[in-house]
Amino acid sequence: MEQGKRRVTRQIQLGSVAIGGDAPVSIQSMSTFSPTDVAQASEQINRLAAAGCDIVRLAVPNRMAALAIREVKARTAIPLVADIHFDYRLALDAIESGIDGLRINPGNIGSNDNVMAVIEKAKPKRIPIRIGINAGSLPEHILAQYGGHPTAEGMVAGALEHIRILEANDYRELKVSLKSTDVPMMVRAYRVLAEKVDYPLHLGVTEAGTVQRGSIKSAMGIGALLLDGIGDTIRVSLTADPLEEVSVAKMILDAAGLMSYGAVMISCPTCGRCQVNLISLAEQVERRLEGIKTPLRVAVMGCVVNGPGEAREADFGVAGGKGRGVIFRKGKVLRTVPEADLVDELMKEIEQYLEQER
Ligand code: SF4
Repeated sequence: MEQGKRRVTRQIQLGSVAIGGDAPVSIQSMSTFSPTDVAQASEQINRLAAAGCDIVRLAVPNRMAALAIREVKARTAIPLVADIHFDYRLALDAIESGIDGLRINPGNIGSNDNVMAVIEKAKPKRIPIRIGINAGSLPEHILAQYGGHPTAEGMVAGALEHIRILEANDYRELKVSLKSTDVPMMVRAYRVLAEKVDYPLHLGVTEAGTVQRGSIKSAMGIGALLLDGIGDTIRVSLTADPLEEVSVAKMILDAAGLMSYGAVMISCPTCGRCQVNLISLAEQVERRLEGIKTPLRVAVMGCVVNGPGEAREADFGVAGGKGRGVIFRKGKVLRTVPEADLVDELMKEIEQYLEQER
């Protein structure tokens, strides 16, 4: 797949995951549990990791939550970010508990002494701080300066204020997000900021909506920027199980030619030639591919007339026929099997291949 040039950014290290520079674009999600629900939060984080999520953020509204991070860290393996608003002491506690990254806006935590306290604590481990601007919560003075309502330029100005505070305190382990539910505004804001700073950017469309609407909005906004070469880490926000966010994020990265691991499925739209229940076939295959980490493209096609040929780029695939179907690899037919066995036989081939790759 053709890939454009990516914007060159400073690299930061969020636990075991590098962000920016030449690192692959990482996938983030957010736990729906408080860290104080240790068992549930940990179990969800582990499920997200198994599905391909690289980083999980946790809301940290109080001290109990900040202290509970220690136990969640002990039960999970991927980097965790504490989402903190206003109270800098929660950031200090979260760092003490072993958090890998912070989402906190330095302009919102009071005096410069508070900012310094957080930086001093973050510095030894170079814990990155995400400056997160939301169009819906721009401060009054920025709104007044930019016409009284949220604009892309206002969002950038807001981000720059926070960035300058960290820079003035000589801290540059940071990344920035500029989220809006308004896709054109969000895209414009990131494009403008990308011209001004070289910090890694965390992309997202906020309050995007339920699965279908939210996926489309995220694919539009995040996708447009990724195709521009902008974006180092992404979060798809959906009103749904966060596992859906990871699955959609993977699809966006794949569509942008940036998916560096995992199995992805392509399937034909079906037409009058199709004589199998392709929707059910595709759903079964997609489900059974979940969790595969090796890069793999799998095609599910409606007919043998055009199927294998149309999906020549796929590593494996199935193409339906009348009461039977074929299994193919790289456009070449391997064998014909009864329709009822298609999915099992395809998975057998894939598993054999993965075994050889190990
Ligand atoms: S693969 Fe076959 S069934 Fe699917 S759209 Fe193409 S011609 Fe139609």
